[in-house]
Amino acid sequence: MIISVASGKGGTGKTTIATNLAVSLGANVQLLDCDVEEPNAHLFIHPVVESVKTITTPVPEVDMGKCTFCRKCNEICQFKAIAVIGE
Ligand code: SF4
Repeated sequence: MIISVASGKGGTGKTTIATNLAVSLGANVQLLDCDVEEPNAHLFIHPVVESVKTITTPVPEVDMGKCTFCRKCNEICQFKAIAVIGE
């Protein structure tokens, strides 16, 4: 069985619900904290960490020496996550 606890908004109690569910379900549980910014479920359940792997998230950068402020990136981005300000 897979139980997902998700919300787009922070501070709604996702970690509280997920960690308490995991603890109440017993020892044969995998708790995956997929918070990309600040995973912190481990602070509440104090797991035995068997291995650690460093991961990175690529962050795009605009080469301001080449940007013409054409705003095409703003038009194309399906998430409307890019704003072009100024000229
Ligand atoms: S506005 Fe966006 S698409 Fe246009 S040149 Fe600059 S970075 Fe590229």
